Amino acid sequence: MKYIVSLDQGTTSSRAVIFDENGQQVTSHSIEFEQIYPHPGWVEHDPGDILSSQIDSLKIAVEKAGVSPADIAAIGITNQRETTIMWDRQSGNPIYNAIVWQCRRTAPLVERLKADGLSNVVRDITGLIPDAYFSATKIRWLLDNVDGARERAERGEMCFGTVDSFLAYNLTEEKIHVTDATNASRTMLFNIREQKWDEMLLRTMNIPVEIMPEVVDTSCVIGTLRRDILGHPIPIAALAGDQHAALFGQGCTSSGMVKNTYGTGCFMLMNTGRNPVKSQNGLLTTLAWRIDGKSVYALEGSVFIAGAVIQWLRDEVKLISSAAESEQLAQSVKDNGGVYIIPAFTGLGAPYWDMYARGTIVGLTRGAGRAHIVRAALESIAFQNRDVLGCMSRDSGLKPGSMRVDGGASANNFLMQFQADIADMAVVRPKIIETTALGAAMFAARAVGLWDDRRISSIWESQAAFVPRMPTSERQKLILDWQKAVGRSLNWENQEQQ
Ligand code: ADP
Repeated sequence: MKYIVSLDQGTTSSRAVIFDENGQQVTSHSIEFEQIYPHPGWVEHDPGDILSSQIDSLKIAVEKAGVSPADIAAIGITNQRETTIMWDRQSGNPIYNAIVWQCRRTAPLVERLKADGLSNVVRDITGLIPDAYFSATKIRWLLDNVDGARERAERGEMCFGTVDSFLAYNLTEEKIHVTDATNASRTMLFNIREQKWDEMLLRTMNIPVEIMPEVVDTSCVIGTLRRDILGHPIPIAALAGDQHAALFGQGCTSSGMVKNTYGTGCFMLMNTGRNPVKSQNGLLTTLAWRIDGKSVYALEGSVFIAGAVIQWLRDEVKLISSAAESEQLAQSVKDNGGVYIIPAFTGLGAPYWDMYARGTIVGLTRGAGRAHIVRAALESIAFQNRDVLGCMSRDSGLKPGSMRVDGGASANNFLMQFQADIADMAVVRPKIIETTALGAAMFAARAVGLWDDRRISSIWESQAAFVPRMPTSERQKLILDWQKAVGRSLNWENQEQQ
């Protein structure tokens, strides 16, 4: 029996997941590491923690599984995206902590870019809407704020990399400096059509090209695992951003297929094939993956507050004692009783794009009870996803036949059925819910010839399918009321100044 290992380097933990050659998960091990908040709004990780937690989780998982390293055919890496690290090319020592994707320290730099009229150029070249999330302004910050960084960078003594790149450098015997096309597409410096670092953007951001990694395919052997780790030189055969790996792990390999991850927020990606679709609704255009030199593109949209509204009901409002309890409570009433919750805690994204919107509960009557409010919270997750899905369909002209789901809140059967009803689309939950790790394993197994495309497409299996069964008139009425309710939440924060 051969095995494939996925290293899933996430925002709060590093995981190693072992699959056998039949695509069955054998075991996994996860290690949390410290979140560093030096100032309000700043988020950092210690790159040493990222590396050691990843190596330890790999060693422990292999030991738990009782697998011989010689039987591991390949390792795939998937990672938190956009997080930025710089290190010395010779010693490998980081020059500063990793600046995490969530970190807002470079918001003023982004504002300057926008004021200079660069938003459209950035969108056309990179597919992204300028934001402090992406790596570009984080690199600029490091060059401007770490002593000697710029001089050393210009002398070619330094490497920049996202987490995939940092791990590739530190885990390979060869110490290679690469990143894959999906991670490159989140830097805000990568020309997604021409598949190269964009000279104009590098110049504009004052970033020397010498520090940039070589961009490789998502699925390809980049080097071999350092012998001192498992005592065996295993090929490292995939690098992929986490959402991109999940899209592949969900088997969304044809144009028009959609996956949605229901976590704290929701991340929805639609495969748009060889065509990079420019969104009219503020969605991002990104690489789905690059295999055999061929790029496949995706549209990406997110819902800021999804599972978080259930956490809020549990921890702040104390209306429920566990997230899972929400399912049975929602099902205990025949409808929402006219109650709508707009969880615009941090504003609203696509298609509303109103950062001044705030959370709102409307439609309360004397009969509205706990169950109605809990149900309205779950329904709000589905309504928001329907809105994003609508944007994707309008932008791409593609009408997906179904949506494949994963993430913690996808376990909620009420939510999944309501999602199918309100989106008028089948919602399908797979057997293997670890789609990110599975996707990285698939990319890696393909690169070493263990699995071909046919084999890969046979691994994904449905565990439960939710088909729409709500009458059209009822759906339309609910959507109209949702839109009316959204209207009440918009432009709340700055109303007085107007
Ligand atoms: P993340 O990776 O963003 O931390 P997870 O995929 O672990 O998220 O999912 C956790 C989120 O899902 C939490 O916000 C939680 O409130 C929500 N959640 C978990 N289980 C359920 C459930 N049965 N019903 C509704 N929401 C749930």
